[in-house]
Parts: sequence; C-alpha cells; structure tokens
Amino acid sequence: MTENRGKQAIHFSVPSMNAQVSPARRAHTNSYYAASRNDDSERAGLQGTVKADVCIVGGGFTGLSAGIHLARAGYKVVLLEANRIGWGASGRNGGQAIIGYNSGIGALESRFGLDAAKNYLSMALEGCDIIRQHIEEFQISCDFKPGHVGLATDQKQLHAMEKERQVWARCGRDDLELIPDRPGVQDLVASSNYVGGFFDPNSAHLHPLNLALGEARALESLGGVIHEHSPVTKVDVHQKPVVHTEEGRVNADYVLLAGNAYLGNLIPSIEAKLIPVSSFVIATEPLGEERAAALLKKDYGYTDWRYVLDYYRLSADKRLLFGGKSYYGGAQPANFAEAMRQDMLKVFPQLSDVKIDYAWGGNFAITYSRMPDVGRLRDSNVFYAHGYSGHGVTTTHIVGRLLSEMLAGNAERFDYFSRIRQVPFPGGKYLKVPAVVMGSWYYRLRDMLGASRK
Ligand SMILES: Cc1cc2nc3c(=O)[nH]c(=O)nc-3n(C[C@H](O)[C@H](O)[C@H](O)COP(=O)(O)OP(=O)(O)OC[C@H]3O[C@@H](n4cnc5c(N)ncnc54)[C@H](O)[C@@H]3O)c2cc1C
Repeated sequence: MTENRGKQAIHFSVPSMNAQVSPARRAHTNSYYAASRNDDSERAGLQGTVKADVCIVGGGFTGLSAGIHLARAGYKVVLLEANRIGWGASGRNGGQAIIGYNSGIGALESRFGLDAAKNYLSMALEGCDIIRQHIEEFQISCDFKPGHVGLATDQKQLHAMEKERQVWARCGRDDLELIPDRPGVQDLVASSNYVGGFFDPNSAHLHPLNLALGEARALESLGGVIHEHSPVTKVDVHQKPVVHTEEGRVNADYVLLAGNAYLGNLIPSIEAKLIPVSSFVIATEPLGEERAAALLKKDYGYTDWRYVLDYYRLSADKRLLFGGKSYYGGAQPANFAEAMRQDMLKVFPQLSDVKIDYAWGGNFAITYSRMPDVGRLRDSNVFYAHGYSGHGVTTTHIVGRLLSEMLAGNAERFDYFSRIRQVPFPGGKYLKVPAVVMGSWYYRLRDMLGASRK
C-alpha cells in the first residue's frame, strides 16, 4: 500500500532497505511481525550444482505462491532467497489483503472493456481465495480476518468509490457496500477525518510474515526445496537457463524472477521498468480489548483513498498497526518512526498517550502503468512477475497460479497480465526517480488541499 491514488522508546531498525544482494546474512527487519513470527526455521544456503524444473529467485509471496502451484503440478522447484523467507515486502507489509489493483477495476474497464474487467476482477477475487485455501489446507496460523473498509477523506473520493462500486456491479459483484456519510463511517472508525467510505466483505487482513512462513512450509511439504542466504548473482538467460549464486548454481528448465523491489540490477531491462518505493508501519503497544474496540469497532482492514494513503488495522493482540508514506527510490528518512506517529495522531489524536513498540519500513515496486509487470525475457525460458504497485498481497497469489498454468501450456489468463504494455520509466537509470517524484508532487499537493485525484 502507499500511493493510491512521540518520543517514547521505539524499537526499530531496517537493516537493509535497499538490498543490493550481498553474501552477508540478513535477519528479518525488527518488526512486530518478526517479533511475533511462529516459525524460525532457517534453511541452508545453496552449495554446489543442482537441477530443477523451475528455479525461483525470491522468497516472498510471488515466489512462494508460484512455487506451491508449480510443485502441486508436479514440477521440481528450487527456490533461492537472498535473505530469509518473507524478508522483503511480503513479510513487512500492512497486511491488507485487498481485492483489486492500484489502478482500480474502473480504469481496466475503460482500457480493455467490460469482459476483460470482469476477468481482472474475478482473478483478483481468486487471489484472496487462494490465500484462504492455503490457510485452510496447510493449517497456517496468520490471524486472517475478513472485511475491509475504504475511507473517503473528501466528497470526490466518495464519488469515485460509488463509481467503482457500480463497475463491480456491472462485473456481476454487487457486494461492495457504500457508506454514504460521516455518521456511517464513524460507526466503524473513531476518527472525524472521513466523510464516508465503502465496505468490502471479500477483502481481509492478516499477519503477512506468518502467511509467508506457512507457505514456505507448504512448498516444502509438496517437495519444493528452499535455500535461504542464497543471493543470486547472475542468470544466464537462455532456453536452458542457469542461475548462479556465490557458492552454487541451478540448471533449470525454467526460471522465475520474483525479487520485486529488491531484485536491483540483476537484469537491467527489468530494472528500467520498476521504481522501488518505501513505505512504513508502526505498531502501538497492545491497547486492550476495550480501547481497541472503541477505536475500530469492527476488526477489519482500513485504508483511505488519498494519493499517499494511510492504512491501518488491529493485530491479534490488539495493537494498532498504522502504515503509510511513500518515498520513490526507496529512501528511509531518519525520523520515519516519529513521522508515522504524527500521521497516526492526525487520524487518532486520542492515541497521544500510547507507546509505539515497533517501527519499520520496506520497499515494494511500482510500474509506470501501476499494473503488475508479468512476462518472459526474450528468447528464453526466464519469466518474471513484480511491480504490484502497492497491491501485492492478493495479486501475488493469483499471479503465482497463472505462471503455473502458463508453464503447463495454458497461457490464456497469464496473457491478461503479460499483454499490458509496460514501458521503462522516463529519465533512465539516474533520472527516473526524480522525474516520478516531481510528478507525484502534484498529487501530494492535491491531498494536502483536500482534492483527491480520482
Ligand atoms: C511497508 C509496506 C506495506 C505494504 N502494505 C501492503 C498492503 O497492506 N497490502 C498489499 O496488498 N500490499 C502491500 N504492500 C506491497 C506488498 O507487500 C508487495 O507487493 C508484495 O509483498 C510483493 O511480493 P513479492 O514476493 O513480489 O516481493 P517481496 O516480498 O519483496 O520478495 C522478494 C524477495 O526476493 C528476494 N530477492 C531479491 N533479489 C534476489 C536475488 N538476487 N537473489 C535471491 N533473492 C532475491 C528478496 O530478498 C525478497 O525476500 C506493502 C509493501 C510495503 C513495503
């Protein structure tokens, strides 16, 4: 999540936001998620030469989801993770499993027509269903709670929500419920910031690191092999690709690059199409049942609809997990913990006495189109999937399945994503970030002036 369109003791550290892979062993960032993870099994790094049907680079939701679908389909999968499973955005995010894409289904309808919009929406819904299935089938304990509320900070956003609701209805889904006024939204959130919103019963929130760790176990139970501490240093992009690490290599029939914002410049043509963006989350001390229920009357996920948005929810032990901000290029300001606390107090001034126990950040990747970049490197069996533009929890899960369908010979649904033309960001390697920052100022200004972009 990010773009959408205190002085207490705070534990925080972000060991490496911009992880250009290096052989150094990297622990999980010091987040609430890492502190409450329910599995700390560590896998050995790759050594020597091995063979695989599919070698996956990256142990976040994209790599894990693809790995599970592929292993289930009978492929021998070897997954290489530079650090730890869930070390990247998948283990650090806001935990909002929201159905949809950064651009909105309405934009997809305008661009590709109603039939295509129906398919994009049904695949987004399937992404969340896959998470539910994984939780049930593999008994993953990750505090999954259904329900999500989109929050409008002005009438323009509310109007945009109603339009999006109508698009969903045209696509055959009439279960988005508009909350048309302040009193309606104040029945859910103890904040005066919102003029209305909508409720989506299909979306959810969850503990993302525990989901990733459970999916890693699931992949192994299906015969997949995972190596942590195995940064990939080079990929020979051929029909028979070879993946190299410092101490080993994988000869594979197929390779899937799933490093997202952390892939760096491993493949320059990919780097040109992505910009890493950092976002931050703070976790309060546990609020207690009563205070938590007074703050968020329903245990749903909540996000507003500003260009640089706030997202928040309760953890299982009743902390407020409050996320937001976005810095193009993946910067981490020194004062981000206090800046996030100030953002939280703008929404919930009644929390001024509450201690912040954790603060952390991470990077995700955006594309120019704000739709995922999914495809195949020319003349090779090397595939890639990344650039979910802040909406990755559910989309990674469907994209993993589409990759598996594609390798099994059915590219129909994969092509819905691969046909979206992804262009390099203007400005080249050195100017693309400043160019996007300048573009975003306009929208940030509109946020500040209370005029949403939608
Ligand atoms: C702070 C934050 C909040 C967010 N909140 C939300 C939210 O609430 N809802 C939502 O839908 N989305 C959210 N997102 C976005 C979402 O988390 C991502 O879109 C999604 O997790 C991407 O998953 P991934 O597997 O593609 O990438 P990642 O989870 O980043 O995983 C990539 C992995 O690849 C590894 N890797 C990279 N290069 C190499 C290499 N050369 N060799 C080996 N391994 C490598 C990395 O170490 C990393 O573990 C958020 C992101 C952040 C950072």
